Amino acid sequence: MNHAAAAESLDLASLGGSLIDGGWRAAEERFPTLDPSTGAKLAEVALGRGPEVDAAVAAARAAFEGPWSQMGPGRRREALARLSELTAAAEKDLAQVEALDVGTPVGVARKLTVRAAAKSLSYYASWIDKLYGDVVPVATAQPILDFTLREPVGVVAAIVPWNTPLLFVGSKLGPALACGNTVVVKPSEIAPLSILRWSALCAGAGIPPGVVNVVPGDGETGRLLASHPGVDLVSFTGGSETGPRVAAAAAGKRIALELGGKSPALVFADADLDKAAMAVALGVFGLSGQACAASSRLLVEASVHDALLERIVEVARALAPGDPLDPATSLGPLASERQLRRVEGHVARARTDGARLVTGGERPGGELAGGWFFSPTVFDGVDPGAALAREEVFGPVLAVLSFRDEEEAVALANATSFGLAAGVFARDVSRVLGLARRLRAGTVWVNGYGQIPNQAPFGGVRGSGFGREGGREALETYTQVKNVLIEL
Ligand code: NDP
Repeated sequence: MNHAAAAESLDLASLGGSLIDGGWRAAEERFPTLDPSTGAKLAEVALGRGPEVDAAVAAARAAFEGPWSQMGPGRRREALARLSELTAAAEKDLAQVEALDVGTPVGVARKLTVRAAAKSLSYYASWIDKLYGDVVPVATAQPILDFTLREPVGVVAAIVPWNTPLLFVGSKLGPALACGNTVVVKPSEIAPLSILRWSALCAGAGIPPGVVNVVPGDGETGRLLASHPGVDLVSFTGGSETGPRVAAAAAGKRIALELGGKSPALVFADADLDKAAMAVALGVFGLSGQACAASSRLLVEASVHDALLERIVEVARALAPGDPLDPATSLGPLASERQLRRVEGHVARARTDGARLVTGGERPGGELAGGWFFSPTVFDGVDPGAALAREEVFGPVLAVLSFRDEEEAVALANATSFGLAAGVFARDVSRVLGLARRLRAGTVWVNGYGQIPNQAPFGGVRGSGFGREGGREALETYTQVKNVLIEL
């Protein structure tokens, strides 16, 4: 693993500042960002505090009231489309930065985060000249013309986590910029480099200074930004414990929260078991389990339990972790030592709670021993009341539970505080349609798992948050409606 040479050739050490009003700004304090494959330091990054947050919000406000709104929809669309092209053109380098800073395998990062970000920017660029208002048929005796204008909200704080940083560039900045807002992004301290690197593309796309600002830092930086009086909307993705804290800091502002999940995959006896096994395994082990919609709970009909488990274990064993810079690798390390410790804690607890470890449950040795790698892990016979059946692990750990009939399956599926996504594998159409309605989740996938197309809304219910990213629904999040009433 020659990560040091890769970090040097990408010049990661130069990504040390905040991007504010189109320029790089140093901070008094700095923090190290580490390579999860080796534990080595990649760069020292500016720790944003009050002065940086104030300056970034002021720059975003000035750009919102000035050049960005004066550009008009046509030129904004051109700029966003160009930003999409530049993002796609930088795919190789950006994916390598994510491989080094997050641990996402380069092949996965190219497709899942960088290409997805470019596609999302392009998708939302094409919405810019389609944001219509309505003419309202007001029922009064007096003649009145009443119509609505769909307007940007203003300055958006985008607070994003470490698991797929560039994916959020597409899903948050795409609609935010398309709707005419300006943005201050706060990447996670665990993996700030890919967003910093990407943000340098904005100028070349003709996006005016101050429209996109990036203030790296920690949770306190996020709190300062969420509570800043100059911010109009806080769009947050992260943990379910942090979400309410962000909501409290942002009191009085518009807010969208995309939080975690403990998403169930329900597999019935009539399902295509090969397809279900592959989808569930990739759904929970992909990104080393660090995905909000991971299929971390398998609910399987008792009569096919053994046949399905055998297939899943086969996939799990074939998915050995490896060097994320190697294009052949499909599983990298966990993003931080803290996350590795969390996952190990969940595994230890599952063992003492009496679940049966079928495969994994340990860190691979050899060349990977110095990094935060963890093997794909399957626990069978998990008690529905146990922590592993209820709490988000955010690691490559699958909890397997069995059910006897549909009623029991639905009761188990809905028995957590979350509601982000669910998967159903079955051939009986009326069962599928009934379950799609009864499962408490923002997304239900049927006979597949994990596809999030740009055109479709994505987000949670209950403890998984509210607000939608993706599709036309995201335009609702990033705009507000003004009513104009004219007495004729
Ligand atoms: P957090 O929720 O803490 O982090 C998300 C973002 O919020 C980061 O940029 C973080 O900064 C920032 N932040 C932290 N505290 C505050 C605050 N008080 N106000 C404003 N912003 C804040 O995720 P963690 O890294 O702690 O992960 C914890 C758990 O969250 C994971 O184990 C997993 O279960 C879940 N998670 C879910 C994700 C999802 O996609 N839904 C993504 C990531 C995590 P910083 O990282 O610099 O502290």
